[in-house]
Amino acid sequence: MSRTGSCLCGAVSFEVAKDIAETGACHCGMCRKWSGGVFLGVEVPGDQLSISGAENLTTYSSSPWAERSFCKTCGSSMWYRVTAPGPHHNAHHIGFGTFDTQDGVTLTGEIYIDKKPAGYTFAEKTHQMTEAEVMAMFGGAEG
Ligand SMILES: [Zn+2]
Ligand SMILES: [Zn+2]
Repeated sequence: MSRTGSCLCGAVSFEVAKDIAETGACHCGMCRKWSGGVFLGVEVPGDQLSISGAENLTTYSSSPWAERSFCKTCGSSMWYRVTAPGPHHNAHHIGFGTFDTQDGVTLTGEIYIDKKPAGYTFAEKTHQMTEAEVMAMFGGAEG
């Protein structure tokens, strides 16, 4: 079963070839600014993602290793894409809220947990990683 999604105005839509089951939160300051809240992403390899209306996207290079795309009309945060070479190249972290349904998907991970604002906490038991642990794993920094 595939999953579909779109931005708020519908100018950008997409289909993921395989169903999804997990989402992860990033608590870094850049995701907070970009998403306007907590960014919940679903990791999808680029070759499993079909995009319609890509000409309606604006893409911001937020770091030397990643970029963030949003709808130029309605501003929906669509995905974070890894541009750096390596095993994660072209991975898209699609905004969970842009999917047409969130049924059957569980929050399983949180990164930059040490950057999370103190005023809220997710109730789900997740695999949590600090900034230092993420940097050690990916060899990069937030962005
Ligand atoms: Zn839109
Ligand atoms: Zn982040």
